[in-house]
Amino acid sequence: MSYDSNNIFARILRGEIPAYKVYEDERTLAFMDVMPQSDGHTLVVPKYSAANLFELPAAQLQSLIAITQKVAVAARQAFSADGITLMQFNGEAAGQTVFHIHFHVVPRYRGREMILHGRTMADAALLQANAQKLKAVLAGQ
Ligand code: AMP
Repeated sequence: MSYDSNNIFARILRGEIPAYKVYEDERTLAFMDVMPQSDGHTLVVPKYSAANLFELPAAQLQSLIAITQKVAVAARQAFSADGITLMQFNGEAAGQTVFHIHFHVVPRYRGREMILHGRTMADAALLQANAQKLKAVLAGQ
């Protein structure tokens, strides 16, 4: 699969469209998923242009997973989550809808099922508030 540089995450990385950003370094950007599968659902995206795991050099994956862990630790604290589900899809057949590799960090709460993938747009005020909470914890780590 060839990389399409106009995918939505590439456009967020270039600053062409807004995102509820929570973390950024030279290799990685993390922001809130606008159609969250649970409260606090966050995406961790490398700045490197790769559609999926098959195209990502191992050195890039190392920094991506390290930041994914950092975000997961912070999200557990920020949202008082009982657990964290990580997800990462490769290819349409696997459920991928945005073809720039990313990890999903999905806080989980006892007794609450995950909402279906990419179905319901969250309220902007809630996304903003969640981004603030997570950013504050990440900044203090
Ligand atoms: P995947 O199906 O693994 O490719 O996941 C793509 C995710 O990106 C879905 O969970 C969508 O809700 C999310 N998404 C799509 N557009 C945006 C956007 N503009 N900002 C934040 N998240 C988005």
